[in-house]
Amino acid sequence: MYLSIDLGEQTRATLNRPFQLLIDGAWTDSQGDDTLDVFNPADGSVIATIPAGNKQDIDRAVSAARRAFESCPWSVMTPGHRAKMLWRIADLIEARQEEFAELETLDNGKPIMMSKKVDIPASIAILRYWSGWCTKIAGQTPVVDLPGEFLAMTLREPVGVVGLITPWNFPLMAAVSKLGPALAAGCTVVLKPAEQTSLTAIRLGEVILEAEVPAGVVNIVTGLGGVAGAALAEHDDVDKISFTGSTAVGKSLIGAARGNLKRLTLELGGKSPTIILPDADLAKAIPGAANAIFLNSGQVCVAGSRLYVAQRHFDEVIEGLVKIAARYRLGPGLDPTTIMGPLVSDKQQKRVLDYIGSARAEGANVVAGGNPVGDQGYFVEPTIIRDVNPQMRVVQEEIFGPVLVVTAVEDLDELAALANDTIYGLSASIWTRDISIAYKLAKKIRAGTVTINSGSITGPNLPFGGFKQSGWGRENGVEGIESFTELKTVITAL
Ligand code: NAP
Repeated sequence: MYLSIDLGEQTRATLNRPFQLLIDGAWTDSQGDDTLDVFNPADGSVIATIPAGNKQDIDRAVSAARRAFESCPWSVMTPGHRAKMLWRIADLIEARQEEFAELETLDNGKPIMMSKKVDIPASIAILRYWSGWCTKIAGQTPVVDLPGEFLAMTLREPVGVVGLITPWNFPLMAAVSKLGPALAAGCTVVLKPAEQTSLTAIRLGEVILEAEVPAGVVNIVTGLGGVAGAALAEHDDVDKISFTGSTAVGKSLIGAARGNLKRLTLELGGKSPTIILPDADLAKAIPGAANAIFLNSGQVCVAGSRLYVAQRHFDEVIEGLVKIAARYRLGPGLDPTTIMGPLVSDKQQKRVLDYIGSARAEGANVVAGGNPVGDQGYFVEPTIIRDVNPQMRVVQEEIFGPVLVVTAVEDLDELAALANDTIYGLSASIWTRDISIAYKLAKKIRAGTVTINSGSITGPNLPFGGFKQSGWGRENGVEGIESFTELKTVITAL
C-alpha cells in the first residue's frame, strides 16, 4: 500500500528488476529454486522476491573469492589503487543516496529521515574512512634479544577469504562496516545479508561492479541464515567469519568455525543500561534516555533498554518519559513525518509483544504503550515498564524493540552491580554533572562502550564491541583493520 507513495523512479526501477546472486563478478541465478519474499514492514505487502541461496551457491561464491584472493590483482594491487576503489564505491552510493535511502526504509521500515540522515551518509563515511586505511597498514620492527645479530619485522597480511554475515537493523551500515576493512586489508569476501533486508546489499553489489572491483573480490549470496549463513560459517575454505547478530547465533558459529579453526569476530546482542545519577541535568537526561531506547524502534544493539534512576528523580523521570512516548508519531517509514516506524517483521513484533506480556504476567506495570498499532504492518507503541525486579525476563533478556524497563535506585553503591547484572556487556550511558563520579562508575561497568551525558554513539575510528556475551573482538579503528589481517614475523640473520 505505502509503495504507491513517494518512491523515486530509480527505486521503482530497482524493485522491478529480477534479483540474483553476485558471484565471480557476474549476477547469476541460484543453483536451487528457492526464493524469499521481501516484505514492507509498514503494511506487510510483498515488495520483491530474492534468491534463497544454498550450499552450492556458497561453494561457488567461496571458490570465486579464493581464486580472486590467490590470483587476481586484488591482493597485489597497490594499496593506493584499492583505496581509490573504496572511495569510488562511496562516491557511487553518494550519487544514488536517495535510492539507497528509499530501499533501506522500504525494506527495514525505519523512518526515511533516518535512512537519509544517518544510515546512508554514515555508510558513505565508513567506506571513505576505510579507504584511508589501505595505505596505512603497518607492522613493526621489534628488537631481537638473542645472541647474534638479527633484524626482525612484523608484517600485516590479509587474513584471506572472509565471510561477512550481517543483521537487519542497519543493513547497509553493517555491510560496509565489514566490507570496508576487509577490502582495505586486501581480503576477498562473501557477504550474506539478513534475509529480511537484502535490498541495499544487492544494490551495493551493483555499485561495486560499476566501481570495477575485480571479479570475485566481493560476492553476495542472499538467503536464509540456517542455510546460506551456516554453509558459509562452516566452509573450510573460509579463513574468517565477521558476524553481527544475536548471541544465540553467534555461539553456534563457534562450532561452525571449528573445522578449519577459522577466525571469528562476533558482534552480538546487548541489554545496555542508562544510568541517571542524582545530579544529572534532567532536561537532557530524560530525552536522552528516551532516544536511547526508541531510536530505530529499539532495534539497536546498544539500545539503552534498562534505565536506572536515582530514587529522588524516579517519578519525574517516569513522567517525562511517558510524555515523550506519547508524542512519538508512528507511521510508515516513507512518510517524512514519521518518528517511529514499524518493527522489521511480524516475527519481531510478536517477540516484542510477548516480552511485554511476560512483564505484565510477572507483575510489572506498563505505564506507556504496550500494544500493537493499527491492523496492518508490524507496529508496537513505545513502551515503558516500571515495578520490575532484576530477575524478570524483560530486565535480563534482549528484546530488540521499543521497550524500556525502569528501576529506582536508592543505594548508588549498587549501581555498577546492577548495570553489570546481565550476560551482556555492549554499552552503557551515565548521566551526571560530576565527571569524576562518571569516570569512576565507567571503570566499574563491564561494557565495550560507555558514554557520559550522551546516548551510545560510535564512529568508524572508535573501537566497538562487547564484553561478556556481547561478543568477541572489536570492529572499527586499528583493532578493526587488524582483525582482517594475520601477523607474520620475519627474522633475518645479519
Ligand atoms: P540473527 O538472527 O543472529 O541474524 C544475524 C545474521 O545471521 C543474519 O544474516 C542471519 O540470517 C544469520 N544467521 C542466522 N542463523 C545463522 C546460522 N545458523 N549460521 C550463520 N548465519 C546465521 O540476528 P538478527 O535478528 O538479524 O539481528 C538482531 C541481533 O543482532 C540482536 O541480538 C542485536 O543485538 C544484534 N546486533 C549486534 C550488533 C553489534 O554490533 N554488537 C549490531 C547490530 C545487531 P537470517 O537473516 O536469514 O536469519
